[in-house]
Amino acid sequence: MAQKYEVREMQQANQQVKPNPFENALEQLRIAAEYLKLDEGIHQVLAHPKRQLTVALPVKMDDGRTRVFTGYRVQYNDARGPFKGGIRYHPGVTLDEVKALAAWMTWKTSVANIPYGGAKGGIVCDPKRLSAGENERLTRRFASAISPIIGPYQDIPAPDVYTNAQTMAWILDTYNTLEGFMSPAVITGKPIALGGSLGRDKATGRGAVYTTVEAAKANKINLKSATFAVQGFGNAGSNFAEILQSYGPKLMGASDSKGSIMSKAGMDAGKLIAYKEKTGSVVGFPGSQEISEKELLQLNVDILSPAALENAILPDTAKGIKAKIIVECANGPTTPEADKILHANKVFMIPDILANSGGVIVSYLEWVQNLERIYWTEDEVNAMLEKKITSAFRDVHAASLKHDVDMRTGAMIVGVGRVAEAVKTLGVFP
Ligand code: GLU
Repeated sequence: MAQKYEVREMQQANQQVKPNPFENALEQLRIAAEYLKLDEGIHQVLAHPKRQLTVALPVKMDDGRTRVFTGYRVQYNDARGPFKGGIRYHPGVTLDEVKALAAWMTWKTSVANIPYGGAKGGIVCDPKRLSAGENERLTRRFASAISPIIGPYQDIPAPDVYTNAQTMAWILDTYNTLEGFMSPAVITGKPIALGGSLGRDKATGRGAVYTTVEAAKANKINLKSATFAVQGFGNAGSNFAEILQSYGPKLMGASDSKGSIMSKAGMDAGKLIAYKEKTGSVVGFPGSQEISEKELLQLNVDILSPAALENAILPDTAKGIKAKIIVECANGPTTPEADKILHANKVFMIPDILANSGGVIVSYLEWVQNLERIYWTEDEVNAMLEKKITSAFRDVHAASLKHDVDMRTGAMIVGVGRVAEAVKTLGVFP
């Protein structure tokens, strides 16, 4: 017992030393505000979420007990259009994490130049320990609790960590039942049968590949002979790996919540996806050896993608990173201190708000299809995604060259700049 308690205390202490994601987001904003010479009042508006909702969610568990979960929806800014952003299920969800993710969504939709603001939601829960029935009841209760503030023209949720198309279907059905009519545009990342878009499930990984292709060109790296590693083999990371591989690079290492692996000969991403589907983890993949997560992040590869959660790359890890390009499929994986080290070491960073914007770009295409009642083929969707994300990459790269700053600061200058212009032009009510 005593030992168990100690472990819990250590875990709590560990959590405390991890940087607060919202403080990281504010520091990134502060740097951008300086370059943009933002008016202090506008800077203050951008440093505050417009609305934060915390909800208590009673759920009947399978064993007959009632458990109360906590959920959040943070609506950060809607100066450029309706709030937009995913919903995450994870035991580590906190209000400050959701605030940070909502701020990043605001800059992300702006960098992508799609007419949305930014929001995020989350439920503090361990989805791996919920039965399908418990997960559905929790999801529906959450949907009903946030229903007064979401809507196709107000706030449009989508999937994020440990939520998927089925989760979106339950939210849609709950919202429609309360409203009394079918309103598919209230949510994106839906199943195709309910008005989802072809290409949405792979869009985050695919978009990240398009930005990698641009980064390789800008850095004169030949993708045909390049190598890469992915930390976090979930939806974004595994699709990124499989699509990037088709451009030539070889996958040398991967990880998930159960461990990290590497293979000197390289691995086939498709086979690794099938292996993880079968066994529940990448660990034990034939021909691979187990390594630590730090070793994975510091592998001698050309391209590294942190594709899991925040705070994956802290200063200590950043110092030993050998990759020439980092592609942030995750949101907020690199702290501002680690950013400085990577920039000094000439690592080319494709920041989260650019690299993983393919997901929300195709969410936007899904929403447009729902509102117009006209549906596109997967090739049409992918072509529009490529065009949008490539032009976002070029805007960010141009800003980073113009101001002689790293790509994160370049992306923040573009993203925050557009939101600031909208906020300023709207004026202050009353
Ligand atoms: N959760 C994804 C993200 O972080 C997608 C959000 C969306 O499609 O609204 O960008």
